[in-house]
Amino acid sequence: IDTAATGNPGDDSVALPAGLDVHLERLRGVVDSGATDVPWRLAALRRLRRMLVDAGDELADALAADLGKPRRESAISEIGVVIGDLDDVLRRVRRSARPRPVSVPLVLAPATAWVRRQPYGLALVIAPWNYPLNLALAPIVGALGAGNTVVLKPSELAPATSATLARLLRRYVGDDAVVVVEGGAAETTALLQRRFDLVVYTGGARVGRIVAEAAARHLTPTVLELGGKSPVWVDETADLDVAADRIVWGKLMNVGQTCVAPDHVLCTPAVAERLVPRLEAAITRMYGADPRRSPDYGRAVTVDAARRLRAMAGLGPAPDADPRYVPPVVLTGAAATPAMTEEIFGPLLPVVTVDPADPVTDAIARIRAGEKPLALYLFTRSADVRRRFTRETSSGALGINVTVVHQTVPGLPFGGVGGSGYGNYHGRWSLATFSHDRAILAKPTRPDTLKVAYPPYRRLTDVV
Ligand code: NAD
Repeated sequence: IDTAATGNPGDDSVALPAGLDVHLERLRGVVDSGATDVPWRLAALRRLRRMLVDAGDELADALAADLGKPRRESAISEIGVVIGDLDDVLRRVRRSARPRPVSVPLVLAPATAWVRRQPYGLALVIAPWNYPLNLALAPIVGALGAGNTVVLKPSELAPATSATLARLLRRYVGDDAVVVVEGGAAETTALLQRRFDLVVYTGGARVGRIVAEAAARHLTPTVLELGGKSPVWVDETADLDVAADRIVWGKLMNVGQTCVAPDHVLCTPAVAERLVPRLEAAITRMYGADPRRSPDYGRAVTVDAARRLRAMAGLGPAPDADPRYVPPVVLTGAAATPAMTEEIFGPLLPVVTVDPADPVTDAIARIRAGEKPLALYLFTRSADVRRRFTRETSSGALGINVTVVHQTVPGLPFGGVGGSGYGNYHGRWSLATFSHDRAILAKPTRPDTLKVAYPPYRRLTDVV
């Protein structure tokens, strides 16, 4: 919808697109009419797929304009990931919609019971700026695959992607399936006053709370995909060369503005001594001596974001000509402290040393002292160490000798726990999360075997 056209009779505090409520009614009506059955779902997903293939260049241009994203990174981490997930969901739509029979206890026989997956109805998807395509479309894949219609609110901080998605989704998928409402906090606030049947929010925890509270007023089920400080454990048994490469790669893609990016490293002082030079060498190998000149290195989303990150790293102001530039920095010793108070969400990598007397116990205690992270990464060859972290910590996901890429496996659920959010999606998890599993029981009327249960109740001794 064009947000320039405003004026909503139902709400005078915020300018929302004229006729928004008409759109909402219409979108819910599409689901209520029963039209969004399997053929509709498959067709909608195929149209979305065609959009991603045909308009890949246009989308990559928008991502480059918003975040300086290199095309190859966009191809893999934005467009490619969504196509991979979409193909997986496409394959599962029919099976997921099939009624699943359930056995009936003997006392209720004769009867038949089954579970039928149904769409919730109209879903609101609120997307962030950091992967503005992936995190807008991956929830839509699940929502459409489960037969919901969608209102998408992209992030105002990725304006080129927001506008491109609005135009392309309308053209390819059609506004009987998806309507895009562009805008920021004011528009989101106004949207959240309406009743939706499902709300999917991706972004920071502060706004996550606002969204969850607003949804709770309508008792609307909510999926919250939040972030947090995802730690990396590295020990002396690890292959430090590969560990350094994988940590730096996961950290610096999209200049650290990745929800599952490794936030900081936990290791002993002895490991830090060997790891830090390798991390620095990996940065130079991947981005050259001056990452500012590398075509593969992006920019912070806003000048303010760059300012926050530069202050956190103790750097001076950015060059006038390049105000969103933040260099990659490995922070050690006291320099790491300011970066340990909040999610970094930028190219700074604190290496925090733990007590060498009992390093695993200390690292686990530090992880448990914070909110449960979206991801935890372990670089170790020790089965015992893996076992301890697996059992004694909790996180949305656990990566062993990898960072970031677990979220490209469609068979794995993607989501947080505790402070990193709730609700899983991707692949079959999307179809489950975006559907209501309806319980159905059918019983013939004659003979009426339920008669034994009707009052007046006989004494137990009469029955047995
Ligand atoms: P953002 O600023 O783009 O905000 C997210 C959405 O909330 C936007 O659509 C925005 O318009 C809306 N919004 C902002 N203020 C609002 C308000 N007061 N009321 C209602 N809506 C409002 O994104 P962000 O929060 O800066 O994103 C960064 C955070 O998101 C990080 O913490 C990151 O870890 C997390 N994240 C999580 C995932 C995940 O999948 N779990 C993915 C990406 C980012």
